[in-house]
Amino acid sequence: MTDAVEATGLIKRYKDVTALGGVDLAVPEGSVLGLLGPNGAGKTTIVRILSTLLRPDGGSARVAGADVLDEPREVRRKIGLSGQYAAIDEYLTGFENLEMIGRLYHLGRRRSRDRAHELLAQFGLEDAANRPAKTYSGGMRRRLDLAGALVAQPPVLFLDEPTTGLDPRSRSGTWDVLRELIAGGTTLLLTTQYLDEADALADRIVVIDHGRIIAQGTADELKRQVGGERLEVTAVDPARFSEARRLLEPLGSAPAAVENHDRSLVIPIAGGAAVLGEAVRLLDEAGIEVDDLGMRRPTLDDVFMILTGHAAENGEDEQDDRHEPALARKADR
Ligand code: ATP
Repeated sequence: MTDAVEATGLIKRYKDVTALGGVDLAVPEGSVLGLLGPNGAGKTTIVRILSTLLRPDGGSARVAGADVLDEPREVRRKIGLSGQYAAIDEYLTGFENLEMIGRLYHLGRRRSRDRAHELLAQFGLEDAANRPAKTYSGGMRRRLDLAGALVAQPPVLFLDEPTTGLDPRSRSGTWDVLRELIAGGTTLLLTTQYLDEADALADRIVVIDHGRIIAQGTADELKRQVGGERLEVTAVDPARFSEARRLLEPLGSAPAAVENHDRSLVIPIAGGAAVLGEAVRLLDEAGIEVDDLGMRRPTLDDVFMILTGHAAENGEDEQDDRHEPALARKADR
């Protein structure tokens, strides 16, 4: 299969900040790559380089067969881009914004109008179609911006955090639209902070931190990488929490993590359902009441926290305070 996007050794520096320290990517035609990483990891920088908005200091990339440095116009003809810097004209209505994009792409008057109507309906913006975009809420703007990226039905789409700031309904509506595009063969590279989004949409996931790839694979491969199932226990009485931990931790295959403000224990286990029975027995004998007790498979959240936590602990540049949330969450556990 040919790669719709291939990047080799991408490097970008801003004075003493290395935004990208040599990133290789390949997105086969018709597939979806999810780019995950904490704030400041370098996701937007990658999207901007691949969409010809930013020149890398090193490395090369081809998109839909065209070189981003030597043939930027070719690349731009083949891509749709929606980002955190919404490309919307505030004074035009939603309809006019989309129609204008259609005209810029030479779709013709009629096709541009039809496409604008179609997309406004798909993104639930029909009622606001004739209002200036400056009256739109943040979520509406984001949807309009996304719709704009789809006007010309480009074969390759770059979406930088497409559902950040959307309410759950708009989010799932957006996923539906993206699923249709994917089914139609569009190649998609999306960045996201939402692990469920990568899980739901991406064929492959690349985890990036400090401008470097720290893991990649399918969602299942990444989950397997961080171990098997987890036993999760929430004690009713916080005063008995330590006792519950002392009793249950030996059942695990690795140290327990503490969540939910010192009320829940998450213990990686290797023994399957038998361990669950043993846990119930131990808690029962000790008379410790629980709110919740169960097994769950690792989520991508576990993957993300374990992986990005390790990257930081390995002594990489920790001065960028934009990484704090991921590290703080790691420390919480
Ligand atoms: P977020 O999820 O917060 O959008 P990101 O993963 O998209 O983060 P980038 O925006 O690609 O991260 O930034 C990567 C690094 O490069 C960060 O440390 C950022 O501070 C730095 N950076 C990005 N643009 C510039 C710039 N114009 N000048 C200086 N530093 C920059």
